[in-house]
Amino acid sequence: MKTVRFSKSGKRVPLSKELRNIVLDLLTGKFGCVCWYCGINLGSKEIHIDHIDPLSKGGADTIHNLALSCVSCNRAKWDLSFAEFVRWVNRLRRMETFPAKDGFNAMIAYVDNEKR
Ligand SMILES: [Zn+2]
Repeated sequence: MKTVRFSKSGKRVPLSKELRNIVLDLLTGKFGCVCWYCGINLGSKEIHIDHIDPLSKGGADTIHNLALSCVSCNRAKWDLSFAEFVRWVNRLRRMETFPAKDGFNAMIAYVDNEKR
């Protein structure tokens, strides 16, 4: 499924409202309405749709490369690849500032499985 299109100038074009709702339905139906990275419930919070491996680093523009994210995790991850982000989060976890380890471990297992 195409989720983000690029204009001729190379600028990213946001998802249409209709397509965004379809992607949200698919991802929440499969994984629940939680941030994949920290595990917090996104029910009443702003929801971001993140490319797990960024397009700028060769990530695919498909549903298997999309994850729901809270604002904080999406900003923190920014343009990092998934592997880089995991290393960064693991550093945070060692500092015991990480809020929800179980959700994060489940997400790592899922992405590892998809890549095989
Ligand atoms: Zn988060």
